[in-house]
Amino acid sequence: MQSKRIDVIKKNKLKNKALNGVTTAWKGLSLTLKHVFSDNSKRQVISISDNNYFKQLEGTTNTIQYPHQKLPVPEVGRYQLDVEMDDCIVCDLCAKICPVDCITIDSIKATEAIGQTSDGTTKRIYAAKFDIDMAKCMYCGLCTIVCPTECIVMTNQYDKSVFELKNLNYEFADMAPEVADEKRRLLENQLAERQAAKLAALNKKEGDA
Ligand code: SF4
Ligand code: SF4
Repeated sequence: MQSKRIDVIKKNKLKNKALNGVTTAWKGLSLTLKHVFSDNSKRQVISISDNNYFKQLEGTTNTIQYPHQKLPVPEVGRYQLDVEMDDCIVCDLCAKICPVDCITIDSIKATEAIGQTSDGTTKRIYAAKFDIDMAKCMYCGLCTIVCPTECIVMTNQYDKSVFELKNLNYEFADMAPEVADEKRRLLENQLAERQAAKLAALNKKEGDA
C-alpha cells in the first residue's frame, strides 16, 4: 500500500516536470514567433522629440541585413559633418568654438568681394584649407550652431568606416597650393600699395604744414 502511494507521488512529480517543460518551451517559442512576425513591419522614422520615439517596439529586434538595410536614425541625430563651401564665408567661428580643435582653416583675405552665399552674405575670404578631422570630433554640434550661414551641418551618415585613420580627415577646400600662393601675393601687393599710399598722404600733409 505504502509503495503504491510512493509510485503515485513519483508519477505526479514526473507529470508536473513534463508539463513545466512543455509550458516553458511554449513560452520561449511563442515569444520568438511574436518577434518574427512583429518585425515584418519596419520601424517608422519619427522625430526624437516625439513622445512615442522610445516606445516603438516593432521592427527593432530582427537582425537587419546591413548594409542593405539600415535602422532609421532620428532627424536630429549627430553624425558625420558636411560643409557647403559655396555658402562658407570662412569666418573661422566653427574652428574657434570646437572644443577639440578638429577644424583647421587656412584663410586668405581676398582683394575684393568674391561672391555671395545663398543667403546673400558677401564673401570676402578664400579658404585655402578647410579640414575637419572626424577621428577627433566628439559630435557636440557646436560648430553647426555658431555658423552664421548654416553651411556646416551634421548629416545622417553614421556608418563611415575607413581602413586608415587619416581618411577620416575630410578636406572641404579645393584651392590648389599655387592658386593660394597667388592669392596671398595679390593680398600682400594690395596691402603694400595701401601702406605706400598712406605714407605718401602723410608726407604730403607734413610737407604742406
Ligand atoms: S561637432 Fe564639436 S567636436 Fe566636432 S567639429 Fe564640431 S565643434 Fe568640433
Ligand atoms: S562658421 Fe560656417 S561660415 Fe564660418 S568658417 Fe565655419 S563653416 Fe564657414
